[in-house]
Amino acid sequence: MRTLTELAFDNRFARLGDVFSTAIEPQPLDDPQLVVASPAAMALLDLPPSEADEPLFTQLFSGHKIWATAEPRAMVYSGHQFGAYNPQLGDGRGLLLGEVRNEAGQYWDLHLKGAGLTPYSRMGDGRAVLRSSIREFLASEHLHALGIPSSRALCVTASSTTVYRERPERGAMLLRLAPSHVRFGHFEFFYYTRQHEALRQLLDHVIGAHFAECLEHPEPYRAFFREVLERTASLIAHWQAYGFCHGVMNTDNMSILGITFDFGPYAFLDDFDARLICNHSDDSGRYSFENQVPIAHWNLAALAQALTPFVAVEALQETLALFLPLYQAQWLDLMRRRLGLTRAEDGDQALVQRLLGLMQESAVDYTGFFRELGERAPGEALARLREDFVDLAGFDRWAADYQARVAAEAGEQAARRARMHAVNPRYILRNYLAQQVIEAAERGDYAPVRELHAVLSRPFDEQPGRERYAERPPEWGKHLAISCSS
Ligand code: AMP
Ligand code: MG
Repeated sequence: MRTLTELAFDNRFARLGDVFSTAIEPQPLDDPQLVVASPAAMALLDLPPSEADEPLFTQLFSGHKIWATAEPRAMVYSGHQFGAYNPQLGDGRGLLLGEVRNEAGQYWDLHLKGAGLTPYSRMGDGRAVLRSSIREFLASEHLHALGIPSSRALCVTASSTTVYRERPERGAMLLRLAPSHVRFGHFEFFYYTRQHEALRQLLDHVIGAHFAECLEHPEPYRAFFREVLERTASLIAHWQAYGFCHGVMNTDNMSILGITFDFGPYAFLDDFDARLICNHSDDSGRYSFENQVPIAHWNLAALAQALTPFVAVEALQETLALFLPLYQAQWLDLMRRRLGLTRAEDGDQALVQRLLGLMQESAVDYTGFFRELGERAPGEALARLREDFVDLAGFDRWAADYQARVAAEAGEQAARRARMHAVNPRYILRNYLAQQVIEAAERGDYAPVRELHAVLSRPFDEQPGRERYAERPPEWGKHLAISCSS
């Protein structure tokens, strides 16, 4: 264990030099207050939970103090936003404070979001609001607890500084952790500005630090692309299996590590709806829930383009062709587990698709369905769930086929229940829950966001006394329009 002052910085990205990032100090917000901290994220830096009670904790993570060995930098990148190339992006309001090496030898980027103006702020104010900081905090830690790769969140601090969006709001900062903050858009920037030596330097840095196994390969850059593609396919399989809609899958929001990254107007599905568009500004539905699969593939193609100076086009195309089969296999595997099936059979894909079609038609609660299915013996569970479906004949046919599958696998009900409950969360971050704790936090009451964070960090456990967090959303909470402004 360490104290805050003992964190050991080793700033490898900063050492790459000024071509990749610009040195700049965070600009503090007024009257900082700690809103919420994640003990699990603190542990990644070997910090005991008690360190969050130190006044220094709030000062460090609101830009008032900085470690002598941190080297805050704004990173440059570009990317494709809604399909169009934007050459002018970069850390417009977040700073890479530095890289901490923990006692186990793992590196964690400390990134302070909302830290003020940078050379990449364009028309923005360099700030983040409390609402979006809380949303990113809750989702990062919850996704991790669900077993879905994600950047992590250490804490949120609020302030009395006013930040203007559609309305005046409270300025806030989020401290984000990830092994790397390099995005697909980093590679695109150096490719499209024709800085191929810098592109090679970036590749070598990322591979050396995060993909060392690719160095064993005869063509390390090709192996690197394949690994990024595999991780991305796995990530999207998890999003689709658990009903997570990212909302802004621009290539500058795609982590090179294949982790969920840069949260905006995301949503977890309440009612199953493959066509959900969670981003209020996404008029064409480019980033709808079901489009996440082809869009991930599109984004990987954009990354592949940036690698063409170093990898043969045919090799990149061959690798790109692996995306869909890799995704499909992982997704089906996750869905089988969610249904409590232990064996793979030929008709599985159709069995799952039929279920999703029925759920779509009847707007069935996605998370609730699977949890209930594991709660009781199959016959009893299906009889209860039947009430939620409009097409009763269709549901009965599906239920009969499903039961036949379950019966063929045999096994104890208790074991089945435990197995299913370990993959089907009881608690999910529903938009209406986030909305309630945000409204309380905006009034200065941080107890609700702390409680919700605690509930969501154990999503698979029964938590007596906290049943209300598992309830279906009220009508007002089902279709909250979340704007991109944050
Ligand atoms: P995002 O939509 O958050 O992924 O951000 C897209 C780009 O806009 C990135 O380059 C951000 O750094 C930048 N950006 C977003 N919000 C702000 C802001 N309030 N001030 C400055 N830059 C911002
Ligand atoms: Mg972004």
